[in-house]
Amino acid sequence: MNRVEILAVGNELLAGDITDTNFLALARVLKDKGAVVTRHVTLPDDRAVIADGVRDALARADLVLVTGGLGPTEDDLTRFGVADGLGRPLVRDAGAVETIRARFRRYGVGDMPVANLVQADFPEGARLLDNPNGTAAGFLVETAPRQAVVVLPGPPRELLPMIDRHLLPYLEARGGLPVIAARRLRAIGLGESLLAERIAGWDEGLADVAIGYYPQDPGVDVKLTATGADEAAAEAALDAATRRRRDRIGEHVYFVEANGHDRTPLASVVGAELRDRGDTLAVAESCTGGLVASMITAVAGSSDYFRGGVVAYANAVKTAFVDVPEALLAAHGAVSEEVAAALADGARRHFGTTWAIGVTGVAGPGGGTEEKPVGLVWMAVAGPDGTRTHRTQHAGDRTTIQRRASATALDLLRRRLR
Ligand code: ATP
Ligand code: MG
Repeated sequence: MNRVEILAVGNELLAGDITDTNFLALARVLKDKGAVVTRHVTLPDDRAVIADGVRDALARADLVLVTGGLGPTEDDLTRFGVADGLGRPLVRDAGAVETIRARFRRYGVGDMPVANLVQADFPEGARLLDNPNGTAAGFLVETAPRQAVVVLPGPPRELLPMIDRHLLPYLEARGGLPVIAARRLRAIGLGESLLAERIAGWDEGLADVAIGYYPQDPGVDVKLTATGADEAAAEAALDAATRRRRDRIGEHVYFVEANGHDRTPLASVVGAELRDRGDTLAVAESCTGGLVASMITAVAGSSDYFRGGVVAYANAVKTAFVDVPEALLAAHGAVSEEVAAALADGARRHFGTTWAIGVTGVAGPGGGTEEKPVGLVWMAVAGPDGTRTHRTQHAGDRTTIQRRASATALDLLRRRLR
């Protein structure tokens, strides 16, 4: 039961011109509904190959999902291939002809081109799945009491709404699906293996909860998935598992997603906290070149708490714009604990904010020394209760170091706000 095979049709997909994002959306929804995708294949716009594909899939699967190739042009052969695969003739649907005609009228582009008539042809016995965003209706053919072929148009803006509109109601009507619930613990500041080590052994008695680790660079997501007879059972299992895991990796978890797929960025979490407190933030960045500010401002509404920043790259700029004393630079070097603190203090003073972040480091690939190797980054957070510094050593190429350092700096602030 509930074995699903997905057939993506399109020469463009096979040529590598486009990515099969429809598959990603479908797979996610199906998984949430407790259905198992057992196969995913990509087929060319070729009537015979599509027919074979449908026949093959029906020999194994309970649900065969076909996407793409429902358009009006001669390269759109999916309806023909599916009809052949089902061994059913195509029959013109008078209602569908009217729907398409009305659509053309509504958009004032004149009469319906003859080519579009084909989009009113469906395999005999098909149930039409209306498409509010295009002329190509999808269709569903029940091939056995609990077996069906569902065909949907290729353009994501047409297909995606049809998932909620048609696919989910169909799956629900079929019933009998176990409920799967998931939660995503977003963690940072601890590598994947260390995280796993800390969590290990805490699953006893939680056999119904599966755990997965997904490196996010930066950070690691710990995904908990529970299966239950109903929603309440699955959620209860997740609650227990989340509590235990949080006990072990508590301070590293910056957000718990109530579902398996959302990924709230660290900057949103920090921003929400600042907003709640009515606090403000500024930055003074050297080696990250504005990336910290960029992450902060990538969040809509960040103007509520973010004042601005300085990319203090040259030493002269550190001195002129953020008041880093020349003597300090001379004594400790630009990449130092003292300069990180001075950057944060200077930014806080100049921008008049509650908090400020200072970052200085060696992004590489050149410029490293034995004492200050590539990847060394000093950061500081200045706030009402003083200025605290943090030394990190990041691995990777220049952009990776910049990205990781920026995230770590934001995380430093998050920990101060806890
Ligand atoms: P149309 O009426 O626009 O021709 P169609 O149902 O015939 O729609 P296709 O011709 O297969 O669909 O694809 C149309 C466009 O939809 C593609 O150029 C591509 O941009 C997008 N598309 C098709 N299949 C996929 C897919 N699996 N994932 C993401 N995008 C897709
Ligand atoms: Mg097409």
